[in-house]
Amino acid sequence: MSEPIRQFASDNYSGVCPEALEYLLAANRGDAPAYGNDSWTQRAADRFRELFETDCEVFFVFNGTAANSLSLAALCQSYHSVICHETAHIETDECGGPEFASNGSKLLLAKGERGKLDPEDVERLIVRRSDIHYPKPKVVSVTQATELGTVYGVEELHALRELADRHRLKMHMDGARFANALVTLERTPAQATWQAGIDVLCLGGTKNGMAVGEAILFFDRELAADFAYRCKQAGQLASKMRFIAAPWLGLLETGAWLRNARQANEMAAYLERRLSAMVGPRLMFPRQANSVFLELPPPAIEALRAKGWQFYTFIGVGGARLMCSWNTPREAVDQFIDDLEHSLN
Ligand SMILES: *Cc1c(COP(=O)(O)O)cnc(C)c1O
Repeated sequence: MSEPIRQFASDNYSGVCPEALEYLLAANRGDAPAYGNDSWTQRAADRFRELFETDCEVFFVFNGTAANSLSLAALCQSYHSVICHETAHIETDECGGPEFASNGSKLLLAKGERGKLDPEDVERLIVRRSDIHYPKPKVVSVTQATELGTVYGVEELHALRELADRHRLKMHMDGARFANALVTLERTPAQATWQAGIDVLCLGGTKNGMAVGEAILFFDRELAADFAYRCKQAGQLASKMRFIAAPWLGLLETGAWLRNARQANEMAAYLERRLSAMVGPRLMFPRQANSVFLELPPPAIEALRAKGWQFYTFIGVGGARLMCSWNTPREAVDQFIDDLEHSLN
């Protein structure tokens, strides 16, 4: 056994939650057809359709980069462009995956407070040019929850949709932390996605408590034409798909996807409360999901790292990002606060 680590680095540092594991083990009893032709995959896809209250097309891939890259490629021709926030994961953390998968669709970067797209800046990018020399805007991509731990309100999504409609653009949502956002929004999955104008949702399973796997939901089924071929060609068609689908079913059927997200959010809220009671560290954004961003003096960062704490300082606009997960214990928050207090003295 290796030593447990002390971390607020990411929700993908966490292990697999019991519900996902239980279904994984159940799917391992006996053989099943390959390439998604098994009953687990069927049941998981049906469960998504039930939960989202619509007859969407559902696909399972290994990771979020593939989910985003392939779904954006499905929405775009190579001469199109995708408008996203300048801190968007598809821009800063996917190594050009969306451009690669789409044979060159360009990302156009918009600004906006707290990691959220400012509709005015999005429109500026859309109408800036209409000539043939400019990559034709085709998609608006939002991240929910955002890279800065904030959450788009449903009205904000409606406003972007209205803008997208005026210019005939599609709406893509990177929902690597969709469950965390949903818990904050207190809306139904349908209200927070297709009813707010989202055409395609990349839904994160890994950070929510699975070992591996993301789901892609096409609310506009026509956009999913031939998508299975795209997944296969990109090496994202799992032959033993039931081992992605069954844990998904476990999360959905038991309600663990929302329980896990709620737990992560609550720990981040507790962390935020403890931090705001301190003198010294400055919170950079209001916490709305499962992360807290903090300005810390370099010596404090060093001292915390020397005590074994792991966290990122390169995400978004800098600062220390403290990410909570489904299994973050309250004691970890208390211990971190203790160590931080010492490091500031
Ligand atoms: C983690 C994450 C992803 C997916 O990343 P992979 O490592 O490719 O699974 C996508 N978008 C956001 C905002 C993320 O935080």
